[in-house]
Amino acid sequence: MELNRKLFILADAAKYDASCASSGSTPRNSLDGQGMGSVTGMGICHSYAPDGRCISLLKILLTNFCLFDCLYCINRKSSNVQRARFTVDEVVRLTLDFYRRNCIEGLFLSSGIIRSSDYTMEQLIEVARRLREEHDFRGYIHLKTIPDAAPELLAMAGRYADRLSINVELPTEQGLSRLAPEKNGQRIRLAMHRVDEHVQAWRAAVRGQRQAQSLPGAHARRAQVPRFAPGGQSTQMIVGADAATDADILASSHTLYAGYGLRRVYYSAFSPIPDASRDLPAQAPPLMREHRLYQADWLMRFYGYEAREIAAAGRHGMLDLEIDPKLAWALAHRAQFPVDLNRAPRSLLLRVPGLGTQTVDRLLAARRVRRLRLDDLLGLRAPVHKALPFVQVDGYRHAQGELDSAALRARLIAQSQRSQAQVRHSGLQVRSATQASLF
Ligand code: SF4
Repeated sequence: MELNRKLFILADAAKYDASCASSGSTPRNSLDGQGMGSVTGMGICHSYAPDGRCISLLKILLTNFCLFDCLYCINRKSSNVQRARFTVDEVVRLTLDFYRRNCIEGLFLSSGIIRSSDYTMEQLIEVARRLREEHDFRGYIHLKTIPDAAPELLAMAGRYADRLSINVELPTEQGLSRLAPEKNGQRIRLAMHRVDEHVQAWRAAVRGQRQAQSLPGAHARRAQVPRFAPGGQSTQMIVGADAATDADILASSHTLYAGYGLRRVYYSAFSPIPDASRDLPAQAPPLMREHRLYQADWLMRFYGYEAREIAAAGRHGMLDLEIDPKLAWALAHRAQFPVDLNRAPRSLLLRVPGLGTQTVDRLLAARRVRRLRLDDLLGLRAPVHKALPFVQVDGYRHAQGELDSAALRARLIAQSQRSQAQVRHSGLQVRSATQASLF
């Protein structure tokens, strides 16, 4: 099979992995003599490096052959898709070619399981090893790891990769045994635990080395501590393929962040696949559900919320699709508001709808030198209409019973829809507006 054809199949097969969610763009070309450039759907996607940079990655599978039969997966053994397999050499060559042409800054490599977990893992590692050791490749490498692979192989993968990921796939043990019976939740978590131990050990060694170097008389040059996945590990959970509620999903994410040092949990709304099992839903869940889970995840990681309190603000374990989870929590806990912007601690300010972490830090900096007034709030690029009912600040007087009003929710939804429509109408998808609309 031609390399181009393989690339087409194996880039397409990789698009279901949410860790780099922007691949699979609509094909465009300039063959009619109009315009410039083309998008051929060849698996170049965007992701974020550990330092926050947005980078382009070649996102492919080594192969879409697989011994497993996970019901939700297009590449499962029983699926009737065209199969292809790259050689290690081909992936190395493609990566270097794309890199030299400035199309990518790195590689995201995953694979179906062929022959055995160890064999598959060895092949993935060999790609990364050749890139690093034989071609001195300094770009970003994200390797999917096979949970059942030998611990030595996981250790070796981390030496070459910037980030490792092991997919938990489904939030509950029952879901996993029903839809992916060949996978084992305990073994997945054990593999994550091992990766976490390596990452922690590497970070401790780096800290130790820095301290030693800062001592008087220390040698300026010392051997580098061997790297281990400096970008840590991430995972993906499929949303809506089983009966798990958002509360189950968030509880699982909490355990992964707290117990295994995960850098990111990605949520991927289940997409129906051809010839699907009857155990799977016929329809995809609303994309808004995935979005709300990302917002809730953000609240857990940066705003000090517990998984269970976020879920409790929804109904029957599901997040409210109409309003973001922070607003849902605030409306369900009105007795805790209004928050005094001039006195409240950071942890409480972070609970005010519409105030993001940067906004809160700016308010805290400003109130060190003066009392905050309504104008200070209006001067920030934050959705002030959302925050005002929940705060107390000089220059703003609440309407009678504003916070307790049954109509507050409807009013905030209407205001938010109006401001989103304005942004769309203006054609300006400014970054700050997108950020601000998160909460
Ligand atoms: S092991 Fe991975 S590639 Fe194979 S069927 Fe399961 S999810 Fe798909």
